[in-house]
Amino acid sequence: MTEAATTPTGSGHRIDDRAARPAIETEGRVLRNYVGGRWREAQAEETLDTRNPATGELLARVPLSGAGEVDDAVSAAREAFAAWRATSPLVRARALFALRDALVAERDELARLVTIDMGKTLDDARGEVGRGIESVETACGGPSLLKGEGLEGVARGVDVELVRQPVGVVAAITPFNFPAMIPLWFLPFALAAGNTFVLKPSERDPLASERIVELVDAIDGIPPGVVNLVHGGREAVDGLLDHPSVDAVSFVGSAATAGHVYRRAAEHGKRVQALGGAKNAMVVMPDADPEAMPAGVAASAFGAAGQRCLAGSVAVLVGSEAEQDRARELIVSAARELRNGPGLDPETDVCPLIGPEARERLEGEIDRAVRDGAELVLDGRTGGGEAGTELGATVIDRAEPGTRLLDEELFGPVLALTRVPDLDAALERVNASRYGNAAVIFTSSGAAARSFRFGVEAGMVGVNVGVAAPVAWFPFAGWKGSFSGDLHANGADAIRFYTRAKVVTSRWT
Ligand code: NAD
Repeated sequence: MTEAATTPTGSGHRIDDRAARPAIETEGRVLRNYVGGRWREAQAEETLDTRNPATGELLARVPLSGAGEVDDAVSAAREAFAAWRATSPLVRARALFALRDALVAERDELARLVTIDMGKTLDDARGEVGRGIESVETACGGPSLLKGEGLEGVARGVDVELVRQPVGVVAAITPFNFPAMIPLWFLPFALAAGNTFVLKPSERDPLASERIVELVDAIDGIPPGVVNLVHGGREAVDGLLDHPSVDAVSFVGSAATAGHVYRRAAEHGKRVQALGGAKNAMVVMPDADPEAMPAGVAASAFGAAGQRCLAGSVAVLVGSEAEQDRARELIVSAARELRNGPGLDPETDVCPLIGPEARERLEGEIDRAVRDGAELVLDGRTGGGEAGTELGATVIDRAEPGTRLLDEELFGPVLALTRVPDLDAALERVNASRYGNAAVIFTSSGAAARSFRFGVEAGMVGVNVGVAAPVAWFPFAGWKGSFSGDLHANGADAIRFYTRAKVVTSRWT
């Protein structure tokens, strides 16, 4: 970013000019639901404010829809299902190609909306939208992905064929931290497979979802009712989980909510995939590259202010005391360099947290870690920024098993360091976690990397990669307490989750 392309603000930050237009044109408007191809005022009287995390500015009011509005959306999806499932997979794929083109054309605008509503930096938001587009591109391969299999002559004149059919109406319930990408993990695959769709985005930053659904609305090839959007919180979620016409539920959010969603939806006989929280470890071997390792650790721990499900929130320092001290020094030096600021400032490394309550909560967690005996090495509790949402990169050493610092997801720019003598002890410490989303090793030894990837209990593994996010044509999800269900998001798993296998045995003699 050159100097000429930025504008200074009153707070001393510079704002990327490509994003400096008026934030949201309709400040304070109440968002509408999208049901059966029409934008409808929600009946709900209660609303929540969605605010710009960097400034506290009110962006919109989010209606907390109830069971009646959920029923309208599910009924519209049910009505649209028969025709959509009978539409050729190729025609459905063409509609997704149109969505892909619309998203590509809208990429910068959508990224700006993500930054304003969620807080992350504009570069990060562009990356997020790009990842969402990759999911749409993968789902455009629906006609190939949906093909079944067959075997002829299993007995005289008898052939067997397996076909994949859509499950019906599917619901997606999504979190605040990837407001554009995560809805796009589900919508394109569900549609490619012939399902109809109801989205309940995070009530904390639903503007990107609204924009994506506006793009869907403009695509002729996606008939009314195929995609529906209901704003709300807990009541809307429970309405979807209890609704007899919802056949499958895709959920992403915290571990506690994931458990609730999994149990309640399963109780009603629905197919569920529930991606939950995480505590991701990054194992730092003594032979790790001294330049790439600290940069990779810092980007993973503090990027998006630690509000990523793949954020490395624990660094496991391996080796002698001297080797551990050296790794700590490298990591702390990298963390000290990071700048806090609004997401629209191209100089910002650590963006604001989603709201001031997140900063307050994290301040308490840092105090607690110190009370539990850990050593505060870098304290990010300075300033707080315009809206009281900024927290600097924080590093806390000597985190021990049995403390919240080591065991629980804190979801902020707080990195725990814990120390072990060798790789076996590192694996033991990593695998003791009740979570198993991602795990990373930094090393220059192929043998260490191989032992790690073989033995570590996590669904997504990085070798010299701080944020081990699989590309869209591979499945995405964790293990253990980070995931409930069977089939993961994205890739071929998504097609399998959104279809039922039917096996046809025929005799023609
Ligand atoms: P959250 O659980 O608070 O909210 C997620 C969704 O659930 C929202 O749509 C919300 O309206 C709904 N919800 C919240 N509480 C509910 C309740 N009691 N009953 C019914 N519905 C409820 O999560 P969040 O704070 O928005 O997102 C951050 C969390 O998501 C972190 O824990 C993060 O690790 C996790 N996450 C996981 C992945 C993954 O791939 N495993 C990806 C992104 C985020």
